[in-house]
Amino acid sequence: MTAGAETFPVVEIFASRQGEGANTGREAVFVRLGGCNLACPWCDTDFTDARICTTEEILAEVRRVSPVRSVLVTGGEPLIHPQIGALLSAWKGEGYWIGMESNGVLRPDAETRASLDYLTVSPKAHEANRYRLETMTREAEEVRIVVDGAVESFCREMRERITARHYFLSPCERGGAFNWDETVCALGTLNLDLPPGATPWLLSVQTHKLAGFR
Ligand code: SF4
Repeated sequence: MTAGAETFPVVEIFASRQGEGANTGREAVFVRLGGCNLACPWCDTDFTDARICTTEEILAEVRRVSPVRSVLVTGGEPLIHPQIGALLSAWKGEGYWIGMESNGVLRPDAETRASLDYLTVSPKAHEANRYRLETMTREAEEVRIVVDGAVESFCREMRERITARHYFLSPCERGGAFNWDETVCALGTLNLDLPPGATPWLLSVQTHKLAGFR
């Protein structure tokens, strides 16, 4: 295949700011790819209505949407696309900062990981049996777990398995309501267990939902 001729299902490309996690407020062009390997009951992301685009078409649209040279690849699940490394390398060649949001079930290959400046993984507690040591992501910049029920033991297990700079909990939102109480209690429980000096679990708020931007 000619370099740049790989194709990807693209749901949307838009300029905005990162709404959650350690990069909250960072301007970026968001590239939402279609398809996911999980089916979370509270998922509010449309990852099915996609158009097929080549690498070159995606790069051109990102340039057209914004002069900001930061791109955030999300989904769905971006790592289900076997050619994703080629797309990231193309951005890298143009000097972009590249972030990715993944559910962490799959591990990025070496080419993909080398291109990523910032990898966020959001493991899903209700799919715990999908996280296999041999195939899951084992290191990232950020781990962010949605508090979808009693997630504390899942969080401890994921922290043992995934080395990261930041560990966050996010409230779960259903129909516009966030489970703040449950989230804050889980934070307190997890942080009480940590040895002195360990990086604490922090609260990540989905500010884009509260502030009404994308
Ligand atoms: S992993 Fe993310 S995109 Fe996929 S179903 Fe779950 S919340 Fe939705």
